[in-house]
Amino acid sequence: MVLDAIEANKARIIALGNELLNTPETAFKEIKSSAIIKRELTSLGLPCREGLAITGLRADLQTGRDGPTIAILGELDAIRVPSHPFADNVTGAAHACGHHAQGTAMIGAAIGLSAAGVKESLSGNVAFIAVPAEEAQPAEYYADFLREGRLRATSGKAQLILEGVFDDVCAAMLIHVSTAHGIAAGYNGLVSREFTFHGKAAHAGLCPENGVNALSMLRCAMAMMDAQRENQNPADHIRIHGIINQGGLAENIIPEKAVLSLLVRAKTIDALEDAAAMTERCAKGAALAFGGKVSIATTPGYLPMHQSPALTAIHKANFARIAPDIPFADQPHRGSSTDMGDLSTIISAIHPNSAGASGTQHGSDFIITDPEAAYVTSAKLLAMNTIDLLYGNGDAARALSIEKPVLTREAYRQRWQ
Ligand SMILES: [Zn+2]
Ligand SMILES: [Zn+2]
Repeated sequence: MVLDAIEANKARIIALGNELLNTPETAFKEIKSSAIIKRELTSLGLPCREGLAITGLRADLQTGRDGPTIAILGELDAIRVPSHPFADNVTGAAHACGHHAQGTAMIGAAIGLSAAGVKESLSGNVAFIAVPAEEAQPAEYYADFLREGRLRATSGKAQLILEGVFDDVCAAMLIHVSTAHGIAAGYNGLVSREFTFHGKAAHAGLCPENGVNALSMLRCAMAMMDAQRENQNPADHIRIHGIINQGGLAENIIPEKAVLSLLVRAKTIDALEDAAAMTERCAKGAALAFGGKVSIATTPGYLPMHQSPALTAIHKANFARIAPDIPFADQPHRGSSTDMGDLSTIISAIHPNSAGASGTQHGSDFIITDPEAAYVTSAKLLAMNTIDLLYGNGDAARALSIEKPVLTREAYRQRWQ
């Protein structure tokens, strides 16, 4: 019944995908996209809670029977790739990561699960959550939101967790469009560190002996970080990468200030903290060696993503049911990061990939070439996974409680404090 309802609404689902594709908006500013998702959920008789993490929404399909609540997520945000063929002329925002496919698949699943007679076979609740701001932005992007107190976190899922939106949810899933069907073993966590080196200005030709070179401190700090890559465990998947934001003001002045911005990534929280501490030692050591100073700003990014084994098994079994002739890959751990990692730290979560796109993710050539796979197949999989979890008394969802979280919700909130 559910799959028939999705199939019967295929044209509507694909039209929605095109509408969202043509409404690209960046993090926490997804106002029109959010209104489109609200319109669709409301049309299915699902009232929305609005203004969650600024532009987020949540609508619950309640079965009327006691049971767990599971969440189907759709990320809302686009990224700035002005050369993308579907970029906004003014903002340069484009769905070059394909998040419009997520909202589309979420609504497709809602259409299927809302079909007459379906919820009578299920227990608990299905929460459809439109999530803002998965993509990282430069620090200044968030400044107004943070200063005005509208945000405490800089990613949508972290902010929603802090607002309590997931307090009653035991499992969450989203499907990210990609070039092939599969699921990565996990994703790195990420923390952002900005090092500002302070030296002393002096004429670089006339009296360099009176100066302390902040750029030299920065270069030595980077060299020490590079030298320690030898000592990192490949199993930790550590990546340290960044840019020099400021290296001085003129060639004939010994730089009194130099700024290095880094992203530090790793597979586990411990490895992430170790790597971040190493960068700090190098910065402080370089400043000490030169007789200068360094100030350090740290911004939490994302926690490492752990795919739930139970949800992964359900997802793979359902994929094999609806696409028995198409391969589904067990993909290696990825060096990139997602704030789905934050959710996976406190509840069971999965972040599988679907085929349907071609080109390079975050590139100007990343477009949907197979709407059926990107939108409709993903909608069916999300709905099928939901049925497996909540069928009858919701035993499969209740059984997820054996998957112990890395952090409790309370411990997660304390880390943010
Ligand atoms: Zn992306
Ligand atoms: Zn993405």
